[in-house]
Amino acid sequence: MRLKNSRRFYLAYSSTVIEKLQALGFVTIGRLNMDEFAMGSSTENSAFQITRNPFDTERAPGGSSGGSAAAVAAGFLPVALGSDTGGSIRQPAAFCGLSGLKPTYGTVSRYGLVAFASSLDQIGPLAHTVADVEIVHNAIKGFDPKDSTTMPDSAYKKWSGSLGDIRLGVDEKMLEGLSAEVRESFDKTLNFLKGKVKSVSPVSLPNQKYGIPVYYLVATSEASANLARFDGVRYGHRSGDAKNLAELYEKSRTEGFGPEVKRRILLGTYSLSSGYYDAFYGKAQAVRALIQKDYNEAFQKVDAILMPATPSPAFKIGEKTSDPVQMYLSDVLTVGASLAGVPALSVPGPAAGLPIGMQLQGPNFSEDMLFALGKAVEAEFPQKRAAL
Ligand code: GLN
Repeated sequence: MRLKNSRRFYLAYSSTVIEKLQALGFVTIGRLNMDEFAMGSSTENSAFQITRNPFDTERAPGGSSGGSAAAVAAGFLPVALGSDTGGSIRQPAAFCGLSGLKPTYGTVSRYGLVAFASSLDQIGPLAHTVADVEIVHNAIKGFDPKDSTTMPDSAYKKWSGSLGDIRLGVDEKMLEGLSAEVRESFDKTLNFLKGKVKSVSPVSLPNQKYGIPVYYLVATSEASANLARFDGVRYGHRSGDAKNLAELYEKSRTEGFGPEVKRRILLGTYSLSSGYYDAFYGKAQAVRALIQKDYNEAFQKVDAILMPATPSPAFKIGEKTSDPVQMYLSDVLTVGASLAGVPALSVPGPAAGLPIGMQLQGPNFSEDMLFALGKAVEAEFPQKRAAL
């Protein structure tokens, strides 16, 4: 939210994830830049500043957790938390040469996280190594009585297999439209993993082609409901010159929200409105169930799926801001796991120039297996650090 000439937010309590980390002795340094309400893929929708990519300051660090990725990639911090609703940990991790985890939905408490799309939002770490991501994920996960969507701890399966047991799947359809350097990185990663895992076989996730429209209907619908509380009375910016209650709502929301947030509230409110609900929100929920079903079927055949995290490396600042649809399309490889709720790890793949992220997705609670695969990839393709 735009907070200029406005009351500041004073936080009355800490989130569960921060309390858990502090209890273990982690030092929390501060808050980092991000897209307003986590809506964006480049951090250019921030209410505060532009964040630059430490590998090339003309380029975006990704988003929405771009401040987290840039701060870690620049060497300011060993690890940072981000939130991932449709890719906002994995994509900035990929753009900034880091590993980042979107955990299984319900694994990490959302208590204290500002809600964007509650059925998709998850908190996860971004770090230089998979081992650091693993340490922080294990520190923040677990049942929380303050978040009724967290899973009981008994739901976790301990994975004690080895790489040689893993059946890896690839959906060729997901590889259409990649930039040449991402395709090359993917091929090299797959080639390397072929020599390590039990098998590599084709899988089909046919409804992923609807992932972007489904995600942008579900996420905006939930956002329009979640952001209703920012009315100038209970939460957020309060307009100083309203003459009555209706004007207070209208002016507070008009002044406080940025353009992307307004666009999404409009989209979401429309798709939930009577007369359009069945055609938009209802349809999107039905296709979301099909995307989940595709994953369930694929995970009967394979244990994990490999695909890139993004179709291209970091784009230039300003390159996509004039066309929101182009910005939305850059999430094509990440939204599927979010809609299905399954875990996904982005890990740097081989890259001659800008960093490129490879993505490993697995069934619910398969984080340990994804970490094992990710560690093998990072050991084979060591990363350069950003030269600042
Ligand atoms: N880029 C996606 C969006 O704009 C994902 C955001 C996120 O994961 N928070 O909604």
